[in-house]
Amino acid sequence: AAPIPAALREIAQILHDAGHEAVLVGGAVRDVLLGRLHGDWDLASSATPEEVQTLFKKTIPTGVAHGTVTVVHGRGPNKVHAEVTTFRGEGRYEDGRRPAEVRFLRDLREDLARRDFTINAFAWNPIREIFTDCFDGLGDLGRGVIRAVGDPAQRFQEDGLRAMRAVRLCAVLEYRLDLDTAAAIGGALDVLDKVSRERVHVELFKLLAAARPILGLLPMAETGIWPRVLAPLEREEQLAAIEHIERLPRDPVIRLARLLWPLRADKAVIEKVIDNLRPSRDERARVLALTNPALGPLAHTHDPLQIRRILAKLGRKYAADAAALHAGEWAQAVTIEEAIRGAPLAIGELAIRGDDLVREGLATPGPQMGKTLADLLDWTLEDPRRNTRDRLLAHLRGAG
Ligand code: ATP
Ligand code: MG
Repeated sequence: AAPIPAALREIAQILHDAGHEAVLVGGAVRDVLLGRLHGDWDLASSATPEEVQTLFKKTIPTGVAHGTVTVVHGRGPNKVHAEVTTFRGEGRYEDGRRPAEVRFLRDLREDLARRDFTINAFAWNPIREIFTDCFDGLGDLGRGVIRAVGDPAQRFQEDGLRAMRAVRLCAVLEYRLDLDTAAAIGGALDVLDKVSRERVHVELFKLLAAARPILGLLPMAETGIWPRVLAPLEREEQLAAIEHIERLPRDPVIRLARLLWPLRADKAVIEKVIDNLRPSRDERARVLALTNPALGPLAHTHDPLQIRRILAKLGRKYAADAAALHAGEWAQAVTIEEAIRGAPLAIGELAIRGDDLVREGLATPGPQMGKTLADLLDWTLEDPRRNTRDRLLAHLRGAG
């Protein structure tokens, strides 16, 4: 297991010294056990938000109504943000009827039972050094299995996002779905449909950016999530789209474009899928550029001129992405790289500009100018070495 940050331990110690319980919960414990880096730390505590705010210098009232306060603690690179959440108990702990510790344990078990998967339902008390695992999460961690806490059908009915979280965790952790859990997802797809698309976007992009996206995409296909979140592809098409995905850069947009490539003939369908994911403007533009059917020949052509013409039409901004996406073979990637090395792919990349042409008396401002420059670009694409001021001018004078 990886050690937990010193500043986080200090937060727990300060709460402990003030007479409160404080335990690390959720995905953070899982990642500590796996020796993975983790960014967001969740602590469950018996301290009330007000008590937490009094004990620490810097706090953010993240969700005081839900009992959550973010504590910022430590200096420089050791600084941590910890979300401290108070159990929703029946009031203060010193109620005299039950020892506070017993009450805390009952609340902790309730908290863990509300979590999604067994490997996300651990608790670790770094001060008392007590580890809590009520659902054999350790067994599932050892087996590499994502299993719902409690009755899977009920858990996916409660919250449709859990279906996406399940397959995302499969990809990121390189785990597989427990059979009952997978079956329950299939029965809760209508609940998934109701989840905010922004949250689905977050999970899908985390899945696609993983080292092994296939391990999340296959269960997406098997459980029936795929057509709800991506496009209604036939099963064979889904499998074919998945096949080469791990050779692509770990960029979710490029990988998403690969999954949508089989639909390129129908731009409206692609737009529907991408818009349904509430993309940023940039993500949307990139997916549409990369699924442009005109890019097809990039996968096999060896004609540098054709490659340059295709990429020039697409624009420099997307050329590298397009090359990464459509250069199926390594040799093909090299071919594309060589074809565009030093080549202008847009009018703005020519060694000459419109006002140069005016000054040289070779053109007058106006619509004709655009045409002249476009022709120059086309002429230069034939041989990128032509992209010098002298040669371009000579060509226009009829001597090139
Ligand atoms: P990541 O590594 O991406 O942070 P995570 O498992 O920590 O993964 P978070 O979204 O940070 O995911 O959630 C923290 C914890 O909160 C989870 O480990 C889980 O215990 C609980 N949790 C999050 N989302 C849900 C949910 N939809 N239903 C039940 N429990 C959830
Ligand atoms: Mg987390």
